[in-house]
Amino acid sequence: MERVEAESRAWFMQCRKCGYEISVWDYGGLRYRGAGTVYRLGRCRGCQKVSMLRVYQRSQPGSD
Ligand SMILES: [Zn+2]
Repeated sequence: MERVEAESRAWFMQCRKCGYEISVWDYGGLRYRGAGTVYRLGRCRGCQKVSMLRVYQRSQPGSD
């Protein structure tokens, strides 16, 4: 489970409308495979509106 959490915490979702950013882990622990930036339709917790959320992977601090 620790690995799953680490992977999820490396992914972030950012609202295209308001710029609110949240880690995928905090959003609900959804997992994403592969590399690259993808977009997902979801409800932003910043502006509370359904928006295209940009999902992207950040480099993990201390991993390299
Ligand atoms: Zn938003």
